[in-house]
Amino acid sequence: MRVERFILHVIEMELKSPFVTHLETVNKRRGIIVEAIDCDGVSGYGEAVAFSTPWYTEETVQTNYHMIKDILAPLVLHREMNHPSEINKWFEKVRGNQMAKAGVETAIWDLYSKRQGQPLAVLLGSVREEVCAGAVAAGSSIAETLSRIDQLLTQGYERIKVKISPQNDHELLRKIRHQFPTIPLMADANSAYSLKDVDQLKALDEFQLLMIEQPLAVDDLVQHAKLQKMIETRICLDESIRSIRDAENALELGSCGVINIKIGRVGGLQEAKKIHDLCRKQGVPVWVGGMIEFGVSRAHNVALASLEGFSIPGDLSSSSHYWHEDIIEPEIQVVNGTISLPHEAGIGYQINEKRLKEVTIQKEELIR
Ligand SMILES: [Mg+2]
Repeated sequence: MRVERFILHVIEMELKSPFVTHLETVNKRRGIIVEAIDCDGVSGYGEAVAFSTPWYTEETVQTNYHMIKDILAPLVLHREMNHPSEINKWFEKVRGNQMAKAGVETAIWDLYSKRQGQPLAVLLGSVREEVCAGAVAAGSSIAETLSRIDQLLTQGYERIKVKISPQNDHELLRKIRHQFPTIPLMADANSAYSLKDVDQLKALDEFQLLMIEQPLAVDDLVQHAKLQKMIETRICLDESIRSIRDAENALELGSCGVINIKIGRVGGLQEAKKIHDLCRKQGVPVWVGGMIEFGVSRAHNVALASLEGFSIPGDLSSSSHYWHEDIIEPEIQVVNGTISLPHEAGIGYQINEKRLKEVTIQKEELIR
């Protein structure tokens, strides 16, 4: 298999309602759809999922664009490969930039599975026909978050996640538990705390959370390990885990009891699968995290979530959770809390060319 050209589609869409964290409010989402085309004209699609500003990791849409165009695509173009896993080797000389790498790597996985005539999920080692869906309720006020939770439960989601910070945590979780005493609930702090806040974090144990996600700093595995010994609620790491090595270190130190795997954050499907395999061996549950993404990344997430170790519902919401109209057809749809895996080859969803064109703000073909 050989990629003859890439097309980068930079797209932008307005969210149905703002996504609020203590670091950033996302109203509009920009991203890059990476199309890899082989010598027979077959296209595979990936998505570079960095945000417009570096609040989640240091990557942005612009850094992704530069990295893919100037550094990564030239490493792949016109080069013979037998399997997508070979790309990691080619990318070894490029430090970091996981989301840019994943944008290219996932496009190649889609292309490869289309050429094999197999669903991507099957090639990854899928064990399920459907995956359980969870969603994030990130409103701008407690009242709004409560009403979003209510809607999500009506739509059948099996697990709800909210965003917390030291300013709102206790009041928000108390009100949620008052209205919804038994729902599977988790809280994501996006590094809003430090170890000095241990008493405040301990006070959250009473809410019986499934886990608390990334309470401390991104580069603080040791402090997370200390915190985990002091609180009952399981810690889940997100931003701290960017590679299999990070996962190995975190598990050895006891920094977490759960890992959120995001394909973009760890540099692609191959690395995501490695982290999944390690966690499975050690009995640590994992789930697929979301990036407020478009349909292409969503489809890759669904395929990944079909592996055995993904025992906790991921951030795998319907396309319609964020978008008026997605760029894939059919759109991803949660029915009774689950998403059925597609049976077609590749990611199993078609690009909605009309919609893609409508939301494209920049398009470039890379030939060499
Ligand atoms: Mg998170």
